[in-house]
Amino acid sequence: MKFVHHPDAALHRPATYFNKGLLRALPEKPERVGALASLIEKRGHALIRPDDYGSAPRAAVHTPAYLAFLETAHARWVAEGDMGEVVLPNVHRMQAAPSYPTSVVGQAGWHMFDTACPIDGNTWTATCAAANAAVHAARLVATGADRAAYALCRPPGHHATRDMAGGFCYLNHVAIAAESVLPTLRAQGRPARVAIIDVDVHHGNGTQDIFYDRDDVFFVSVHGDPAEFYPHMAGYAQERGTGRGEGYTLNLPLPIGSDEATVLATIGTGLADIARFAPEILFVSLGFDTFIGDPLAAFGVTTPGFARMGAMIAATGLPTVLVQEGGYAIDALSANLSSFLDGFEGGFESTAGA
Ligand SMILES: [Zn+2]
Repeated sequence: MKFVHHPDAALHRPATYFNKGLLRALPEKPERVGALASLIEKRGHALIRPDDYGSAPRAAVHTPAYLAFLETAHARWVAEGDMGEVVLPNVHRMQAAPSYPTSVVGQAGWHMFDTACPIDGNTWTATCAAANAAVHAARLVATGADRAAYALCRPPGHHATRDMAGGFCYLNHVAIAAESVLPTLRAQGRPARVAIIDVDVHHGNGTQDIFYDRDDVFFVSVHGDPAEFYPHMAGYAQERGTGRGEGYTLNLPLPIGSDEATVLATIGTGLADIARFAPEILFVSLGFDTFIGDPLAAFGVTTPGFARMGAMIAATGLPTVLVQEGGYAIDALSANLSSFLDGFEGGFESTAGA
């Protein structure tokens, strides 16, 4: 198993975001990757630096206007004068917005669906580095070089849609990685079919949105019930895909306060559906904010519980790409990843060759 990370992922460091009427400290801190990177090295793994895959993988998922906005927004924002330190919207996209705005203030409203995705001078560099890590990990698995790989991505990505940032996310790294392997699979004469299971405590609304009309990417998300939890407007059980994608989205929302046994059993339900779909590669949006001690906590998963989660995912026997998403209990992050890897690597070795 290989581990991929680019140190530029730590450069993004906006101090604050606007939440429930208050300017609050951003829990999505660079220290998160520091904790995870040192744990990986302590376990004896090298951190592979990803190649630069350029703009094509990003452009296969996100719109040109959104990518241009992400890349240029902070410099244009600062150049306006009399602005805050980070890009945050103060207008919102109208329901039937007739015209794409030209100003950076207007575009911030167009391309940001909440106020939890502040852009600073290094956000673009960091999210591109994370996208390259996810693509690199996916390539290692798709080419058969490795049966599993982990991409240490930051900021997270699963809330970002084709053309909107939100929930600490800018580029959707797991979607970019999943999309990037389909041509490789086709070239190998294999079915171009992958699955994504999102085990972050929040619904992967962006990933769902990107693949909602597709039957070649099966998306499963286990998350806190959006009736009472972020992102509020997506992640309900009745959302099942559209057009040829109907039936290829599976949402398994759980009540806030669900205990570990419930969360793991529900992930098991999702994995069973994925096994029936028979993907060539399984992608995992791996968030540790299901942890019982997470500051955004909604579920009761314990540190030993992550080992069981890892073992369940490994037991699918599928080539697997793990992409880091959320997890904000910084003091417990390395123990939680370590536990997950104990279960995953142990299980993966026992299914190798199966
Ligand atoms: Zn999350």
